[in-house]
Amino acid sequence: MSDVLVVGGGVVGLLCAFELTQRGRRVTIIDSPSEYPPASWAGGGILSPLYAWRYCDAMTRLSVDAFSRYQQILAECDSVSTPDCNGLLHSGGLWVETAGDDAVRAHQWAQRWQVPVQAMSASEQMRESAAGAGLLFPTLGNIRNPGLLKVLRAYLRRRGVCFQSATVSKVLPAVSGGKVLAADGRQWQSDTIVISAGHAAPDLLLPLGLTMPLFPAKGEMLLYRMKPGQVPAVMLTERGYLIPRQDGSVLVGSTLRKGDRTTYPTVAGRYQLERLAASLWPELASCSPAFHWAGVRPGCERDIPFIGQVPGAKGVFAALGHYRNGLVAAPASAELLAQLITGELPFTDPRPYSLSSASSSSRSSSSFFNR
Ligand SMILES: Cc1cc2nc3c(=O)[nH]c(=O)nc-3n(C[C@H](O)[C@H](O)[C@H](O)COP(=O)(O)OP(=O)(O)OC[C@H]3O[C@@H](n4cnc5c(N)ncnc54)[C@H](O)[C@@H]3O)c2cc1C
Repeated sequence: MSDVLVVGGGVVGLLCAFELTQRGRRVTIIDSPSEYPPASWAGGGILSPLYAWRYCDAMTRLSVDAFSRYQQILAECDSVSTPDCNGLLHSGGLWVETAGDDAVRAHQWAQRWQVPVQAMSASEQMRESAAGAGLLFPTLGNIRNPGLLKVLRAYLRRRGVCFQSATVSKVLPAVSGGKVLAADGRQWQSDTIVISAGHAAPDLLLPLGLTMPLFPAKGEMLLYRMKPGQVPAVMLTERGYLIPRQDGSVLVGSTLRKGDRTTYPTVAGRYQLERLAASLWPELASCSPAFHWAGVRPGCERDIPFIGQVPGAKGVFAALGHYRNGLVAAPASAELLAQLITGELPFTDPRPYSLSSASSSSRSSSSFFNR
C-alpha cells in the first residue's frame, strides 16, 4: 500500500509526488487515460503570472522564485539520468507592454520582491517596427512544459512512484484518508489522498460536500518555427503573448473561453491567434503555424489556488484552481502541500490558500463565468 494516493498527474500532481518522494513517502499517481493532453501539456510555460503586480501577495509568494525552483528540480531529475533536461528552461527574460500608473505599480512590485526590471521600449528590445513602452524583467523566463512532464514522469518512475491509468469516479473518506474508486471498478486505499485533477476536480469534491468556485476555461495556442534567437524574450501585451523556445519555436497565445471544457482547436481560435501573431511580430504574417492545439485551464474565481486539507475529510488534501498560473506556481504549491501533509513548518503562511472558505464563496454560482 502507498503512503499517498495522488489523483491527477498534471504538473501539480507530478510535483506533489516529487516533493513527497523527496520526503520518503511512497506515492501512487492515478491519472486518467484521456486521449486529450492535460492543461499542463497545453500551456505556454511563462514563469510569471501575466502582469504579476496585479495579483495579491499570496500569488507572488507562489511564483516569484519559480525559475530557480525549476532549476533545482531539473538538476535533481538530471542526477538520476532522466530524459535530457537541456533546453527546457529558457532564460531570455519577459518583456511586458505597459505604461503610466500600471508601469509605476510594476516598478514598485519589482522593488518590493527584488525582481530586476528595466524600462525598455518594444523597439529597443524586441523589434524595430514596434512602438510600445514597456518593461523588461531579464531574470524571468519560460519552461518547455511537455518536456518537463516527460522528465518528471521518468524521474518519479525511477524513484519508485507507481503510475495507475484510471479515471477516478469517487473519493470516499474514512476516519483518516480513505478509498479512491475508479470508473473501471478498481479501488485503492490510503491514509493520505491528494486531489489534483485540474478542471475535473470539482466533480470529485462534490460528493465530499465541497462546492468549489472553480470552472473550466479553454485556451488555444499556435506554434511557429523560426530561427533560434529571433524573438529574444517572452513578449506580453494586453492582447496576447509570444513565447520563444530555445530551438527557435515561437508560441502564440492564447484564447480564453470561460465555461468551455472542449479540447479541440477551432477555426475561430486559429484566426484570432494568426492575427495576434502578425500584430506582435509582423514577420509571422507570412508564415503558417506548424501546430495548433487547445487545453482546459482549471479556472478559479479568486486570484490564488486552493491548497490544503479538504474540510471534514481528515487525510484528504487538494491542490486546485491554478487557472492561468499552474506552471509557474506548481513547484511552490507542491512544496506547501507536502509540508502540510508531513506536518513540517510551511515555507509560507498556508491560510490564504485554505479550502475552508470554498463552500461559502461558491454560492454566487454562475456569476463567475461572466468575469
Ligand atoms: C493555452 C494555455 C496557456 C497556459 N499558459 C500558461 C503559462 O504560460 N504559465 C502558467 O503558469 N500556466 C499556464 N497555463 C495554465 C496551466 O497550464 C495550468 O494552470 C496547469 O497546467 C494546471 O495543472 P493541473 O495539474 O492542476 O491540471 P492539469 O494539467 O489539467 O492536470 C490534471 C490531471 O488530472 C487528470 N484527471 C482529471 N480528472 C481525473 C479523474 N477523474 N481521475 C484521474 N485523473 C484525472 C487529467 O487527466 C490530468 O492529467 C496555461 C493553460 C492553457 C490551457
